[in-house]
Amino acid sequence: MHSLDEFARTKLAALASLSLRRELVTTDRVSATEVMRHGRRLVSFSCNDYLGLAHDPRIKAAAAEAVARYGAGAGASRLVSGNHPLLEQVEARLARRKGKQAALVFGSGYLANIGLPGAFAGTGDLILIDELAHASMHAGARLSGARVLTFRHNDLHHLADLLAHERPAVHRVLILTERIFSMDGDQAPLSHMVQLADRNNAWVLADDAHGLGVAEHDGDVPLDMGTLSKALGSYGGYVCASEPVIALLHSRARSFVYSTGLPPASAAAALAALDVMDAEPERCARPRLLARRFAQALHLPAPASAIVPLIVGEAERVLSLSTALERAGFLVVAIRPPTVPAGRARLRFTFSAAHTDRQVDTLIDAVTNIMSTQTVLAQP
Ligand SMILES: *Cc1c(COP(=O)(O)O)cnc(C)c1O
Repeated sequence: MHSLDEFARTKLAALASLSLRRELVTTDRVSATEVMRHGRRLVSFSCNDYLGLAHDPRIKAAAAEAVARYGAGAGASRLVSGNHPLLEQVEARLARRKGKQAALVFGSGYLANIGLPGAFAGTGDLILIDELAHASMHAGARLSGARVLTFRHNDLHHLADLLAHERPAVHRVLILTERIFSMDGDQAPLSHMVQLADRNNAWVLADDAHGLGVAEHDGDVPLDMGTLSKALGSYGGYVCASEPVIALLHSRARSFVYSTGLPPASAAAALAALDVMDAEPERCARPRLLARRFAQALHLPAPASAIVPLIVGEAERVLSLSTALERAGFLVVAIRPPTVPAGRARLRFTFSAAHTDRQVDTLIDAVTNIMSTQTVLAQP
């Protein structure tokens, strides 16, 4: 056997023995709330399409029309010839929505997060990052070359201690966090964090992937990033900031400079989705209402977002719960380390404006039944 294949097989066997191997499962999204998996139709509570817009006829029509008019791909990076006017429209809309002077669209949220930190911090600088921040933020922090320290989740005292000790010896300081944490659904104390940052001449970058269009917008941060791929039902990433900051990113964010522009269809879909978001506040309120109703029925803490985690503990057990829910007709994916810390494996339920009351009620019944035969850890 080739040594590379042998390496892969040994690694895979080790992951499988820990219930940590991940495998792709063909999943055909047939409507805003339903998927086909293993030949069966399941109601999904594992999509981040919070407003049900990926399948909305208005959004699909906007994308189709953009393909017909402008083609399938951007053809080059935006600095070369790929700066389509639709992208500038998306940026103007996002900036307005976030109360910022300007915005920049990236190829994806992941690309935004690996490109942003390095544009503002490097050798001799410090990045402080919430321990539960998204993998892409951790990756971007490391890529920047700055010294990276993690602070305990949402712990402003710990952050203040680190600033007190470390601030005098470094040049620039960047603080990375999420507005709504992707795997816990809780909210960062951003207003207070920004005050603390300002007192220490540090800059906050907050990831709004799971907040935009769904959760309350708390705290103005100088670097406000997010994705077009979740509530907006499209694809792509963005950051909103002041004009000079965005202008600097045009030259310095490597994942922007050296990557092809977003396809026009993705930009058109995002624009149409922003229209819906502005016009239909009741649609934006619904995912959280459903999440609250579900959490209340299962005696879980009231969620700040459309995400409800049910922390189970061990990876093996969460896989068996997920399988039991699939048998009952629901797609609720098991979330395991390293996406979450060891011993904190969970079912992660996400709610969409497109879910019917009945779909949520049958989910509550199914989870209640399945849990009555299994035990879970105390919730955080
Ligand atoms: C999904 C996600 C990203 C990545 O965004 P993509 O557009 O999917 O690449 C970044 N941060 C958080 C918190 C996310 O949940």
